[in-house]
Amino acid sequence: MTSRPNCILIVDDNEMNRDMLARRLERKGYQVAISEGANQMMEFVKNDSCDLVLLDIEMPGINGLEGLRMIRELRSALQLPVIMVTARSQSEDIVKALSMGASDYVTKPIDFAVALARISTQLAHKLAQESLKESEERYALAARGVNDGLWDWNLVSNSIYFSERWKSMLGYRGSEILDTPEEWFELIHESDRQRVKDEIAAHQMGLTPHFESEHRARHKDGTIRWMLCRGVAIADSAGKPIRMAGSQTDITEGKVSDALTGLPNRLLFLDRLDRSMNHLKRNPDRSLAVLFLDLDGFKVINDSMGHFIGDQLLLAVSKRLESCLRKSDTVARLGQLQFTLARMGGDEFTILLDEMKDTGDASLAAERIMKELSAPFLISGKEVFTSASIGIALNNPDYDDAEEIMRDADTAMYRAKSLGKSQYVIFDADMRANVMARLELETDLRRALERGEFQNVYQPIIRLENGEISGFEALLRWNHPTLGLINPEKFIPLAEETGLIRELGWWNLQEACQQLGNWNAKREPDCGLVMNVNLSIKQFMDPNLVENISNLLIELGVPPKMLKLEITESTVMENPVAAVEMMNRLKNLGIRLAIDDFGTGYSSLSYLHRLPLDTLKIDRSFISGISNGVDGMEIARTVMPLANNLSLDVVAEGVETAKQAEEVKILKCKYAQGFYFSKPLSPKEAEAIISEHVAW
Ligand code: C2E
Ligand code: CA
Ligand code: CA
Repeated sequence: MTSRPNCILIVDDNEMNRDMLARRLERKGYQVAISEGANQMMEFVKNDSCDLVLLDIEMPGINGLEGLRMIRELRSALQLPVIMVTARSQSEDIVKALSMGASDYVTKPIDFAVALARISTQLAHKLAQESLKESEERYALAARGVNDGLWDWNLVSNSIYFSERWKSMLGYRGSEILDTPEEWFELIHESDRQRVKDEIAAHQMGLTPHFESEHRARHKDGTIRWMLCRGVAIADSAGKPIRMAGSQTDITEGKVSDALTGLPNRLLFLDRLDRSMNHLKRNPDRSLAVLFLDLDGFKVINDSMGHFIGDQLLLAVSKRLESCLRKSDTVARLGQLQFTLARMGGDEFTILLDEMKDTGDASLAAERIMKELSAPFLISGKEVFTSASIGIALNNPDYDDAEEIMRDADTAMYRAKSLGKSQYVIFDADMRANVMARLELETDLRRALERGEFQNVYQPIIRLENGEISGFEALLRWNHPTLGLINPEKFIPLAEETGLIRELGWWNLQEACQQLGNWNAKREPDCGLVMNVNLSIKQFMDPNLVENISNLLIELGVPPKMLKLEITESTVMENPVAAVEMMNRLKNLGIRLAIDDFGTGYSSLSYLHRLPLDTLKIDRSFISGISNGVDGMEIARTVMPLANNLSLDVVAEGVETAKQAEEVKILKCKYAQGFYFSKPLSPKEAEAIISEHVAW
């Protein structure tokens, strides 16, 4: 606290005594001031320029006891410790001095070690007092500002003082609360109690600079309040905490309401829901529902029109929701609804419908909400349209707590979104089963990589002019221990969502390149096969991709031109600038690039010439269209000349019949892939057709 060294004032008429003591104290790092008598001493005291006084009792003129009296008139023992220096024989004087407010004494001849110990003890006490005073002042200040309650805990006697304000914050007065810390802990919510105790203990052990905790407390009226509690501990010279004091602030308001809309927030909503669920257990003829509402396309509005408009829209939506829930006459069957409307954050709102007589009321309420939201909002002079997807979970006795019913309402909301938005879905057991199956699959997927449950199959790509194999596309299969062989449609989307696709995709790429190396080693250098590998967007955007692939190819001795990476149009369009840069880096390595599933995405032919591409793979939906008539043919007809102009190779995907193979050949398509030629093959099967030089 004091950065300057402590200053000790030596008051003694004997010059030799003074100087000897002074030199030794200075050697210990203290600053020393010297005074021959009481008058000079008082100058130092008045100026507050010393931290401790060593005062000789026996002095001519004004003696030590008289001097002590003069000091104590100005400074208390807490402000300025005084250690009396006395001959051993003067025990009467010692008693007298102590009763007059001396802090301690040392006897002559001075045992320096003893003197030093007493000095440092006194200085430590003073420091403790000062920091306590400082913190008390700080808290008193804070308390005046925000109406805090104060507490002051004597750790030695284990009694605690609570200010009246402290008590009234929790609904108590005077002696209704005893002065023990147990009284306090008793009021803290049982879920928070141990944590608060731990935080206090951590501070007292010196592990934290101050104690600060946000926790729930039970008000006398039964409600839960949020308290912010702060404090500091004061230790004695040995470092043992002797006192701890601080403040308590009611932060319930900030904790439970949403800053933008003023609606209850998630915490408060959960609390109310919890209570309603408990209430229901005693009144089984009533039911409750949770509506989970998410605005459709809010992100687009927010991004395109700005956060200010976004916030205004959320505010307007919250007001409209509230008023439409309040007016009960719009839907005749819905009587006065008991509801709690809350904002979860972002564009998510929840509604608790309480005391429902009929579970159908929840659907009626959802319909009404959707109807009300369908009218445009006028925001900053602009008409803004929005709609909502709503998930509904109805109470049933299986629910143990609020989080569970919220989770199901949320799941139902996602279902509503995936069914095309602007609708409501009621949660049912099938949905839970789906969620569980998905969760299980996700866990399995993580484990599958470690257990080596993945394998690659290879589908030949045929050069149409001579029917020979030009290369293969590597396709993943998951050999699930109980479900058998699983196709990528089932697990690739999940792997993409969870980010596992990076590892999985890398496994597939490595495996495919290794296989390619083996096969090409047995062939003439110029009849090398090309390996097509699919790259998902997450892999494609990985900044280390180029380096990783380059290292892999060098390690395996595979020429880069033998590898062709397939990406989709949407991967490119997600961030066209970055995509072109990445494509150029890959091309510079010598790797070839293909656009996969062409025609299903943006189908914008105009950007094609800007991409460093080798190949277009026309999606199989267009090829299968060829046999049943016009549409597919059209696409193929427009794309073929364009691709030829851009010197791109074209692969027709999903060729299943001889007729389709014939048609695409007529359109000057050079390559084809599909069940008509071959299904994806195991490595062994693929090896067999390679060595037999099979041609179609
Ligand atoms: P894709 O890249 O379009 O792969 C071609 C898919 O069409 C393969 O399905 C293949 O078995 C199937 N197919 C081939 N010929 C025919 C045909 O004549 N008729 C029909 N109806 N289908 C045919 P598969 O193996 O189930 O793969 C599905 C998708 O999974 C792939 O579509 C690709 O997008 C993705 N995928 C597969 N392996 C990987 C991988 O290692 N990484 C990434 N990122 N995606 C992969
Ligand atoms: Ca592909
Ligand atoms: Ca494809």
